[in-house]
Amino acid sequence: WTSETIAVVTGANRGIGFEIAHQLALHGLTVILTSRETAVGEEAAKVLQEGGLNVVFHQLDIVDHPSIEAFAEWIKENYGGIDILVNNAGVNSDSGSDISMESAEKVISTNYFGTKNIIKAMIPLMRPSDSGARIVNVSSRLGRLNGKRNKIGNLELRKQLEDDESVTEELIDQTMHSFLEQVKDGSWTEGGWPQVFTDYSLSKLAVNTYTRVMARIFSERPEGEKIYINCYCPGWVKTAMTGWAGNVSPEEGADTAVWLSLLPDQFVSGKFFAERREVTF
Ligand code: NDP
Repeated sequence: WTSETIAVVTGANRGIGFEIAHQLALHGLTVILTSRETAVGEEAAKVLQEGGLNVVFHQLDIVDHPSIEAFAEWIKENYGGIDILVNNAGVNSDSGSDISMESAEKVISTNYFGTKNIIKAMIPLMRPSDSGARIVNVSSRLGRLNGKRNKIGNLELRKQLEDDESVTEELIDQTMHSFLEQVKDGSWTEGGWPQVFTDYSLSKLAVNTYTRVMARIFSERPEGEKIYINCYCPGWVKTAMTGWAGNVSPEEGADTAVWLSLLPDQFVSGKFFAERREVTF
């Protein structure tokens, strides 16, 4: 890897995202460390720059369209394009079993719609070399379609979301909107949604499913224009999101993202990983 390889990491001012930026930079890439807050993002980038790493800061809020447009324009002008995109930015709900509309909207619009915003803005800027451009989505086992305790109760919907051939972005969007409508009118507890961290789990289920949809779409690209997209669960990580509980460090949580970003022959796409191993959706 050389400094000609450009990797973008979202939400990289702290936690797992900061470590992903750090480890990618240790491999010799140019890393664009992004954060929604300029001051903290600049501070985080400075820490890595002072270690001699090739890290550049730019502001990016994944739910703010002017911010995304300004970022894409800046990438185009300064680098022409990017090779790797790691969608790490995310929020968790702290509302427990009593979900408020405010919390559900924030979690789903950040984790799912925000991630989608960035992917869509970056696709035209991705530079597929011989080994393909790469997108890695930081997701969670809580978003598994067939998790033991946390599955979608509506069998027909689950089957539709499971079907690799026919699942669409529209179906994922509709699913999120119908959940949000049920939160609004108070009927969501009867909706058969995941029982644990419901809004967060659903937002990650949407990210996982969108990963499969985009992999199918990207697979139709001709050789030389390939983009490979995968998602992974970092484990239960000691970060602000878990109140520094968890059983793995941010360094360990970042490992699979870096591994997926840099796989030498990237033939894998549309898959879900944990600890460098494929797991079922
Ligand atoms: P942190 O809360 O430490 O970091 C989350 C990062 O996302 C912060 O940099 C935060 O910025 C940023 N962010 C939130 N909203 C936006 C936005 N609208 N635009 C840009 N950046 C945003 O948590 P983690 O490091 O633990 O989480 C990173 C990812 O890992 C998340 O996607 C999370 O869901 C996932 N994950 C974490 C697990 C864990 O156990 N910790 C388990 C499974 C998945 P700011 O500092 O401004 O808030």
